[in-house]
Amino acid sequence: MIGSDLEGYVYALYSVMISLIVGLLIVVRSLRDAERPIAVLKLYNLLFFLGMVGWLSLALRDVFDIALPITFPTAYFFLCSLAMLLATTGLTGITKLTVCLAVAHVACALCVLAFADDQAALLAMSIYKAMIYPCIFYRTYKRALSKKNAGYAITTLALLVPFCSVPVEIYYLLFNVDLDFVFQITFVMNAVAFVMIALGFLSSVLIDERNELTLLALKDPLTGLLNRRGMEYSLKVPLSSALRSHNWTSVIAVDIDDFKLINDTYGHDSGDVVLQSLSQVLMSYTRASDICCRFGGEEFVIIMLDSETSEALKIAERIRQHLQALVIPLEHDSITLTSSFGVAAEHDVESIDSLLKSADEALYAAKRKGKNRVCIAEIAA
Ligand code: GH3
Ligand code: MG
Ligand code: MG
Repeated sequence: MIGSDLEGYVYALYSVMISLIVGLLIVVRSLRDAERPIAVLKLYNLLFFLGMVGWLSLALRDVFDIALPITFPTAYFFLCSLAMLLATTGLTGITKLTVCLAVAHVACALCVLAFADDQAALLAMSIYKAMIYPCIFYRTYKRALSKKNAGYAITTLALLVPFCSVPVEIYYLLFNVDLDFVFQITFVMNAVAFVMIALGFLSSVLIDERNELTLLALKDPLTGLLNRRGMEYSLKVPLSSALRSHNWTSVIAVDIDDFKLINDTYGHDSGDVVLQSLSQVLMSYTRASDICCRFGGEEFVIIMLDSETSEALKIAERIRQHLQALVIPLEHDSITLTSSFGVAAEHDVESIDSLLKSADEALYAAKRKGKNRVCIAEIAA
C-alpha cells in the first residue's frame, strides 16, 4: 500500500495524465480535418481513449478505495498495448500481422481474466513485455531511421521504457515476492511511456507538417525541381565546403528557344508538358550532388559542385543534343524543341550570384548567335 504522504503525488500524477489525454484527444480531433493519414489518427484516438478510461478507473479505484484484483488492470494493459503497438508502428491495414497481433493480445487479456491469479497475471505481463516490446521497438526504430523526424525517435524510446523494468519485475515476482511493488513499477513505467508516446506523436505531427511546408516553399510544383529559394537553401553547406577545399563550381543556365511560340501553337497545357519533360531530361543528366532548379518561366539552372568548365560544357552539350532529338508526344500531336545554354565556372566561389550572372550572360550570347547552342562565359574562358 502506498504511504499516505505519497498519496498526494499519486493523485497529482492522475491529474497530469488525465489532463494530458484530454488535450491529446482534442489535438487528434482537430487534426482529422487536416490532410493526415486518417487510419493512424484513429488508432491514436483509440489509444488515448483507452488510456483515459484506464487512468480514470485507477484514479476512481484509489479515491473510493475499491479493492480490485490486479488481473483487471493487467488484462486492460493488453488491450492498450495492442492499440499502442498498432498506432506507433503505423500498422493501419488489416494484414496477417495485424490480425495475429490482435488475436494474441485479446487471447492474453482473456486468459489473464479467466485463469490467472494476481501473481500469474503480473508474470504474464512481464513475459509478454520481454517478448513483444523488442519486436515493436525494432519496427519503430527502423521507421524512425527512415523518416527524418525526431518524433518517431521519441516514440521508439518510449517503447523501451516498459521493457526496461522487466528484470526487476521478474525478480520481485519470483524471488522476493512483492506484488504491490511490481504493480507500482509497472504503473510508473507505463505513465512515463504514455507521456513519451504523447510527446512523440505531437512532435511527429509538427515536424511532418513543417517538413511539408518547407518542401512546398522550396520546390516548383509543376516540375518538382527546386525553385530559387530551394537552390539557395541547398547550396549553403556544399558551397562553403567547396570554398574550403578550393574546388571548382560550374553553372549551366538553360532556356528553351521560342517557347512562347510553342505555347501559342500547342497551348499552355502542352507548354507545361514540355517544361516537365525538359526537367526530367535535366535530372537524368545530372548527379545526385548537382542542384537542378527552375528559376521561373522556361529558365532552368544546373549547379555542379566540384566540376570544371570542360565537364560542365560536356554535360550542357549532351543535354542540348538530347533535347534537340526529343519528341514529346501529345494526345493528337507531338512537339520538338531546341534550347540554348550558358556555362560559367569558377573556383573559390563565395557567392553563387556572380556565377549565375555570368552563366546568364553566356546564355544570352547563345541566343544572339542563333540559339540551340552552348556558350561559355568570358570569365571562365
Ligand atoms: P527565346 O528563344 O528568346 O527564349 O524566346 P522565348 O519565346 O522562349 O522567350 P520569352 O521570354 O519571350 O517567352 C517565355 C514564355 O514562357 C512566355 C510565357 O508565357 C511562358 N511561360 C512562363 N511560365 C510558363 C509556365 O509555367 N507554363 C507555360 N506553359 N508557359 C510559361
Ligand atoms: Mg526561351
Ligand atoms: Mg526566357
